[in-house]
Amino acid sequence: MRIPQDARFRAERAQFVLRFCCETCGGFDPERAACAYGYPVAEHRLARYRDPDAELVFCKDYDAV
Ligand code: SF4
Repeated sequence: MRIPQDARFRAERAQFVLRFCCETCGGFDPERAACAYGYPVAEHRLARYRDPDAELVFCKDYDAV
């Protein structure tokens, strides 16, 4: 799912401590910096969202740990 990132999302992300990036997903292998399921991770990594204008790309297989 791709959606534009806006100020409301950024505020609510901080307020509710929303986790949606690979670094907090059970499928992420930090030693390889890769997805254990073989998905591309570039658009789901936390660093991507340092850019406040980065389009939001949610992974459908995100598995909270
Ligand atoms: S399942 Fe999705 S969110 Fe989880 S590590 Fe793989 S690509 Fe990242």
